[in-house]
Amino acid sequence: MSDLDTTTYDWDLFVIGAGSGGVRAARTAAATGARVAVAEDRYLGGTCVNVGCVPKKLYSYAAHFRDAFEDAEGFGWRLDAAPTFDWPTLRDNKVGEIKRLNGIYARLLDDAGVRLINARARVLDAHRVAVGDEVHSAAKILVAVGGWPWIPEFPGSELALSSNEVFDLDRFPERFLVLGGGYIAVEFASIFNGLGSETHLIYRGELFLRGFDREVREFTRDQMAAKGVDLRFDTNVERIERVEGGLVVTLTDGETLEVDAVLAATGRRPHLEGLGLEALGVELDDGGYIKVNDRLESSVPSVLALGDVIGGPELTPVALAEAMHLVRCHFEATPPSAPLDYANIPTAVFCHPNIGTVGLSEEEARERCGEIRVYSADFRPMKHTLSGSSERCLMKLIVDDKSDVVVGAHMVGEEAGEVIQGIAIAVKAGLTKADFDATVGIHPTGAEEFVTMRSPTRR
Ligand code: NDP
Repeated sequence: MSDLDTTTYDWDLFVIGAGSGGVRAARTAAATGARVAVAEDRYLGGTCVNVGCVPKKLYSYAAHFRDAFEDAEGFGWRLDAAPTFDWPTLRDNKVGEIKRLNGIYARLLDDAGVRLINARARVLDAHRVAVGDEVHSAAKILVAVGGWPWIPEFPGSELALSSNEVFDLDRFPERFLVLGGGYIAVEFASIFNGLGSETHLIYRGELFLRGFDREVREFTRDQMAAKGVDLRFDTNVERIERVEGGLVVTLTDGETLEVDAVLAATGRRPHLEGLGLEALGVELDDGGYIKVNDRLESSVPSVLALGDVIGGPELTPVALAEAMHLVRCHFEATPPSAPLDYANIPTAVFCHPNIGTVGLSEEEARERCGEIRVYSADFRPMKHTLSGSSERCLMKLIVDDKSDVVVGAHMVGEEAGEVIQGIAIAVKAGLTKADFDATVGIHPTGAEEFVTMRSPTRR
């Protein structure tokens, strides 16, 4: 506890928002002896626990069962009656699990000695926060309120759901349309397709998942289409109208589709309205994100920020890393010697099949490294020799030709996130293709391809 005058303020740290980043910062700061309070007016655990990663993954598991049922027959299993899916069971079991996690978050804060205030907070000045009828003072205020779905305005846009509502629909949408081409769009298109909806994905660009490796995007497009998702690129939603029995969606190319639900997965924005930051003069960037320095301080140094409000990768593990870094900078005797390193952050997209990726795409690597070698394998996984499924797997390594360092690793296939998490350690450590080659494979796995690809596919 270096520069804090603990006698002047009610709290050493007042955290606004009990999502992944806010809770981690609160607990970790409290462990250094800091007096910490957290204000939260919605749910504990934020987007990730309540309307993001956790329920999404549970629904993704549910959707994968369709493939499993289909695959089983070739292995001798007879499912005499066609399996049926009951949406309320999945939805309500999900609700129960989220409640359990909310309870765990409350206990974690309590055990750490953090006071939780269930109310919306508003920043009054550089050191004071209003919460309900109370005013609290704090040496540091942390804004960790996360993001909120954003939907463009068009006629009938109010009929579209956001990812906040889609988990808890009263009725299962037999016909489902997703607008967007990012993480949320491809994940939900896969989920509802797997659960049995007739599913359309509408994306304004020529190919979804902009920013990902081109080959990964194309491969994913083909695999999702093969699983039955109706993918429509270079078009957009012009309007949505309610009709008897559903919604009619008119696309900019003139086509119409009748569906039961439309999910707009058109991005997220920082959730800063009404927080009082503008009046205080906290600087925002053009995208409306809070500008912070390496210590995660805003332009008002006692106001800190992290996670989805600062415009970095909007990923839970990134918010957690920022929380730990922030606590080291502000509450520990020895601050970190370097800024947080945002290079080589691995990520997974839970479309079906999954994408796992770390480091540079082939296109980025060509630009940054010049000469590169690309090693890739596009194969039918062993499981599908008997299952009869046409699902394929793509694995790909990008190597800087001069240094032999592996600068990117990509996979589309079953459990790609699980595989890439391990590969990410090697990429983060800056290991070379020779190091990959010197590693003995695990046989028989799909992942062994990552250490057995010997001849470059292209240079
Ligand atoms: P993204 O920013 O990833 O994607 C938004 C999509 O909406 C893009 O395809 C974009 O198109 C499109 N779009 C934007 N504006 C319009 C418009 N006016 N009309 C039509 N389309 C539009 O946001 P998501 O909502 O998918 O996800 C938000 C973030 O949450 C992600 O970036 C990710 O960081 C995080 N997340 C992570 C997950 C994971 O780790 N597995 C899962 C889900 C979310 P264009 O590409 O042309 O701009």
